[in-house]
Amino acid sequence: MILRRLMMLIKYFEVVFNVNVYYNVFQNIFLLINMVRKPMPPEATNRIEFSQVKNAFQVFKNDYGIVRHPNTPFRNPFQEPNGLDPQGYRQYNLTLIPEEMTEADFLQKLNGILVISCMDKDVALPLYNKLKDENSQTPIVFLSMAGGIVQEHDERKLALSTILTYISQHQEGITQVLATDHDHTCGYVKFVLGGTSLAEKLGVTVAEIGEHSKTNEQAAMKSLIAQNAEYYKLKELFEDKLQLALAVIDRQGNVELDMNFNEVLPKKLSDF
Ligand SMILES: [Zn+2]
Repeated sequence: MILRRLMMLIKYFEVVFNVNVYYNVFQNIFLLINMVRKPMPPEATNRIEFSQVKNAFQVFKNDYGIVRHPNTPFRNPFQEPNGLDPQGYRQYNLTLIPEEMTEADFLQKLNGILVISCMDKDVALPLYNKLKDENSQTPIVFLSMAGGIVQEHDERKLALSTILTYISQHQEGITQVLATDHDHTCGYVKFVLGGTSLAEKLGVTVAEIGEHSKTNEQAAMKSLIAQNAEYYKLKELFEDKLQLALAVIDRQGNVELDMNFNEVLPKKLSDF
C-alpha cells in the first residue's frame, strides 16, 4: 500500500516536471517568434482609441524599477514633474494616465508644447522649468519615461508610437513637439546595453557630475533620437511642429537643448 502511494507520488512529480519542461520549451519558442516578428508602428491614418492609449502608458509603469526608485510618485502629462524629495534630492518623473481620466479630460488639456523626455531626475524637472521660463504663457504636455524618445524594446516602441499617433490625431491645440533624450549617460540606454554606458561602449570617458559629456556620446545620442523619430514617423505626424533635441545636462540641475540635427545620421544602438 505504502509502496503504491510512493509510486503514484513519483509518477505525479514526473508529470509535473515534464509539464514544466514543455512549458519552458514553449515559452522559449514564443520569445523567439516575438524577436523575429518585428511589430510595425501604426499608420498615421489608423484611428487610435483612447483605451489603446491608456494601455500603452501601462507598458512604462514599472520604469521606476529600472532605476531602483520604485516608490517615486507618478505624475500625469499635464502636471509639473516631481519636485525635490523630503531629503532635498531631485526625483525621477514617470508620467502615466490615471485610471479615472476620461478622453474628454485628456483632449481638453492637450494644448501647448508637447515634450517627450527621459524620466531621469537630472532632466525631467530642469527641462520642464527651462521650457516654462521661456514660454510662461504656454501649457506644457510632458511625457516622460525611461529613455524618452529613445526606445529599444519592441513593446515600448509600439506603445510610444500608439500614444504619439493618437496625439497627432488630436493635435489642433499643440503648437510644438519636442522629441528628446539626454546625454551624460541615459540610464535606459545603459540598461539596454546590459549595464555598460554609451560613453564606455564608444570608448570615451564617462562625464563627471558638473562636466559635459564628450561630443562622441552626444553625437551618438542624436543619432538614436533621429532614428527613433523616423520609426514613429514624427515628421509625417507633426510636420513643422516637430523639433528634435538633445538635452545636454551636467547632473547639477542645468539643461541646455541642442537642436542642431543637420548632419545627424539616424542610427540604432546595435550600429555602435
Ligand atoms: Zn535617461
